[in-house]
Amino acid sequence: MNKKELFERFTYLEKQFGELYQQFGELKTNLVQIIEENHHLSVENHHLRKRLDSETIKEEKQNPDNSLQSKSQVVGEGYDNLARIYEEGFHICNTYFGSPRAEEDCLFCIDFLNKNQK
Ligand SMILES: [Zn+2]
Repeated sequence: MNKKELFERFTYLEKQFGELYQQFGELKTNLVQIIEENHHLSVENHHLRKRLDSETIKEEKQNPDNSLQSKSQVVGEGYDNLARIYEEGFHICNTYFGSPRAEEDCLFCIDFLNKNQK
């Protein structure tokens, strides 16, 4: 390898490094966005759960006789939501929860749905 070739290789590698560095920067920005979004969703989820709990308690105080019925209704709705999420193409099983599902059925998800069916 002569000096000119060596120099050209260095220049090429330098360019590659620059592009890689830029891609790392972009990935890092995406990662930060995802972490922030995840944090916001966790906070929102926490608030919604608290609100659901207090609404449920309020409802039970108003209708003590219906408390058992309304609880089984909530369970039923939870099941419907999970079934819908699954139909929309996402995993609801513990193993892959929330990740996009391939076309074929997931045995873990089916098992989970069957266990939670009323
Ligand atoms: Zn699954």
